[in-house]
Amino acid sequence: MKFAATLSALALGAALLAAPALAQDKPTVGIAMPTKSSARWIADGDNMVKVLTERGYGTDLQYAEDDIPNQLSQIENMVTKGAKVLVIASIDGTTLSDVLQQAKDQNIIVIAYDRLIRDTPNVDYYATFDNFQVGVQQAQSLLKGLGLPEAKGPFNIELFGGSPDDNNAYFFYDGAMSVLQPLIDSGQLVVQSGQTGMDKVSTLRWDGATAQARMDNLLSAYYGDKRVDAVLSPYDGLSIGILSSLKGVGYGSGDMKMPIVSGQDAEVPSVKSILAGEQYSTIFKDTRDLARVTADMVDAALSGKDVPVNDTKTYNNGVKVVPSYLLKPVEVDKSNWEEVLIGSGYYTKDQVE
Ligand code: BGC
Repeated sequence: MKFAATLSALALGAALLAAPALAQDKPTVGIAMPTKSSARWIADGDNMVKVLTERGYGTDLQYAEDDIPNQLSQIENMVTKGAKVLVIASIDGTTLSDVLQQAKDQNIIVIAYDRLIRDTPNVDYYATFDNFQVGVQQAQSLLKGLGLPEAKGPFNIELFGGSPDDNNAYFFYDGAMSVLQPLIDSGQLVVQSGQTGMDKVSTLRWDGATAQARMDNLLSAYYGDKRVDAVLSPYDGLSIGILSSLKGVGYGSGDMKMPIVSGQDAEVPSVKSILAGEQYSTIFKDTRDLARVTADMVDAALSGKDVPVNDTKTYNNGVKVVPSYLLKPVEVDKSNWEEVLIGSGYYTKDQVE
């Protein structure tokens, strides 16, 4: 009897050991995401929950539909409910100081996810992509699409920036301008509208309809008898709006070639548009990698180990330099979409074809 009982206890122990660590044996991580209106953030939220659950954490995932007070109260709730870590992709990176002070008072670890949280000492780490490099790649892809260096131009280009309350938008723009400005100075690229600088080209809340309306205005005010050859767009959702505007006045049909338009996030409608020969390129940022790096930060911070970071210089949030982990973005166009997006298992072929 005793022997049998010991045996079954052993068997039970072995079964427990073999069971996947799905049960929540670690604290809850609050995950605040900006909006479900863009597929990338849905993938970010899903991937974060998946990795953290696999590692035994509880998760509290919230989307704020781009409403700042909504995001604020979601984070306050996470603090009240006892989250031990907050992972935040902010809508406006400057509006969270009060709630993050409460978080700090309760020793909650705060990780800025993809977007830097500004103007507070109470952000511990930042997990993101090399945002300056995103802009560099967007601009380089425009030049490739225009056929430089062989093609001499001059080419007409218009510039779009991201949301002025998102720190990333400035990095994307500055990265792009580090490539484009010398060519604008030399006259090989011409901004017919004269609209340059984030104060003139930004797009509040990354809104596609706002970009489309601005493109409509640019086309009617400056391109009555001229052709626009390229458009710097920092995000796929804007690119789709810009492309609609261009199509509205005949680009992409007859002998009016579609201008070269960039993008970011490799969202499905944009990948389809690239395959259809409309959008020229996008920038792929693998949200699975970002979720994994963020989960590694959570693990290390909670267990008092060294938190993985690879940049301690770039991201000054106005109060301090936030230790960061920067992942590498990848430019995607017609020449490599299959290898990058399908080959990595990010999408299946029938999702984008
Ligand atoms: C992200 C981009 C995204 C944009 C709009 C930025 O903060 O880094 O990947 O395209 O927000 O959602």
